[in-house]
Amino acid sequence: MFLAIPLRAEWIGDARPMMGTEVSVYLWSDDPGAGRRVLDEVFSEAERIDRLMSTYRDESEISKINREAAAKPVAAGDELFSLIRRSLDISVLTRGAFDITYDSVGRHYDFRARRRPDREVVETERNFIDFRFVELDQATGTVAFEKDGVRINLGGIAKGYVVERGVDLLRRRGVEHAIVTAGGDSRLLGDRRGRPWMVGIRDPREDGEVAISLPLADEAISTSGDYERYFDEDGVRYHHIIRPSTGEPAGGMRSATVIGPDAVITDALSTSVFVMGVHRGLTLIGTLPDYESVVIDAGGRVYFSDGLTLPEPPPADPGGESTRMSPKGDGFSL
Ligand code: ADP
Ligand code: MG
Repeated sequence: MFLAIPLRAEWIGDARPMMGTEVSVYLWSDDPGAGRRVLDEVFSEAERIDRLMSTYRDESEISKINREAAAKPVAAGDELFSLIRRSLDISVLTRGAFDITYDSVGRHYDFRARRRPDREVVETERNFIDFRFVELDQATGTVAFEKDGVRINLGGIAKGYVVERGVDLLRRRGVEHAIVTAGGDSRLLGDRRGRPWMVGIRDPREDGEVAISLPLADEAISTSGDYERYFDEDGVRYHHIIRPSTGEPAGGMRSATVIGPDAVITDALSTSVFVMGVHRGLTLIGTLPDYESVVIDAGGRVYFSDGLTLPEPPPADPGGESTRMSPKGDGFSL
């Protein structure tokens, strides 16, 4: 009898600049040659999705929609259509905190050039922000805009889609342990071979420092922060998460993290919770049984959704051993 223990099993990974950020893949493979080919496939898939959904590419499907959908319904293709539909569902769920039409204002920002729209531009353009201006026709698979000036941008959900698709692909290729990351969005496949993955939430004000580490397996985690794309001017931080109701960058928060089974949802919800603020954001997450959240507010205070806080210790059992949970054994420091 032989035991089928692969001789060259190892962790392999790669990171590449993509979608205005970095996409990385890290996986356990018992055949490094095949593992490398699978890595390449994930990057090609990310590239394909970016070509479909990037507003920075004139030839992308989404750019065509932005050019033409106010004049006539535009065929979107199944994939884009369904991601737009999911975006609109999340707008309903978050009462408009998540809104892909934020782009009528958002497109006036250039964070590298420290360029932002002035008050007049914001006042005019924010009239085009409303997810209800986007009309989807399921029967024809088309997208139409209710008026000229409306634009959509999937920047708040597309990276979650990329990591979700990346993990699907890995699973189909027989990979059992992996992590796929695109900017602030990660999806974990399996665990880290017997141990959970330790996923760090960045300290929003100390570059390279981790504020909180969470042990996770088979889950998605997304963080939206005011430190990803921003510039400071006269003491005000202008960043890339827009509050649809005002057309201005959302204040009151430094970062919002959402954990759950689906990276498309965690991505959109992390942006949403950032916009909604601590109270409304965590209240929303409390209504979604599979999702949890960690929020860091503008004062640096950290808040956890109910499912992440330790349960009350059970009443002491006078006769027996203490069953009290210790933060070390059951908390975040696994
Ligand atoms: P990242 O991973 O790029 O930091 P986030 O998940 O934090 O992305 O989402 C921020 C991005 O979402 C912005 O760069 C922009 O493209 C888009 N966005 C900004 N405000 C909103 C909003 N209110 N609703 C939906 N998308 C938004
Ligand atoms: Mg997000």
